[in-house]
Amino acid sequence: MHILIANDDGVFSPGIAALAKLASEFGEVRIVAPDVEQSSIGQAISPSRPLSYRRVRIGAFEAFRVNGTPSDCVALGIHHWERVDVVLSGINQGLNVGNACWHSGTLAAAKQAALFGVRGIALSAPSIEDHGDYELLMPSARRVLHTLLTQKPLALLHNVNFPLDPKGIAWTKQSVRHYDGKIVPAQDPYGRKVFWFAALPIEAVEPGTDRWALTQDLVSITPLRLDLTDQDCLSEDSKRLAFD
Ligand code: MN
Repeated sequence: MHILIANDDGVFSPGIAALAKLASEFGEVRIVAPDVEQSSIGQAISPSRPLSYRRVRIGAFEAFRVNGTPSDCVALGIHHWERVDVVLSGINQGLNVGNACWHSGTLAAAKQAALFGVRGIALSAPSIEDHGDYELLMPSARRVLHTLLTQKPLALLHNVNFPLDPKGIAWTKQSVRHYDGKIVPAQDPYGRKVFWFAALPIEAVEPGTDRWALTQDLVSITPLRLDLTDQDCLSEDSKRLAFD
């Protein structure tokens, strides 16, 4: 199995090294990742400037550091390898649940794979810079990869989030009830007004969702689709508000 690994934290993130090591149990691994952090860059691509890469080593693995976005990295990686069976993105330093899915560069890299018709899996966990290492979640990560890589799940795209010490694994849906983005006013050192676009935590979680699973110390696996069409509204409004 040819496993392409990307992320949005940059090629030197400890998360990508941990993921590459685990993924190498399942197949041949190649790392193609941004040269600098690109968190919250979403699905951006770089169509109006050239991309280039440099070779580096990440542990035992050959890696390519790209002057581009996570999606650029996936496109380059798929272009340069004769066959890519799956793209793994992560392990992100920080969870990507609920509305973060709209902004996440980690998820976007997996989504970019799915846009090319290749299986994509995004993996995220709380930042180990704040919380230690991945040792406790590795057995669960191995089980999740085994299931998603060898048991032929139906969806082409999966969003996986780990607590640092998982007690189990749950299939979930994306939480969309609340938007957690807030503008927070502040001042720069010169007294000028500045604003932070900050994602603040929300208390209430809906059972069965990705955010809920993490509160239960469960690994969350959410199958996603690329089609954003609201089928219920389409069928209702196309009759009710028909254009003659
Ligand atoms: Mn990130």
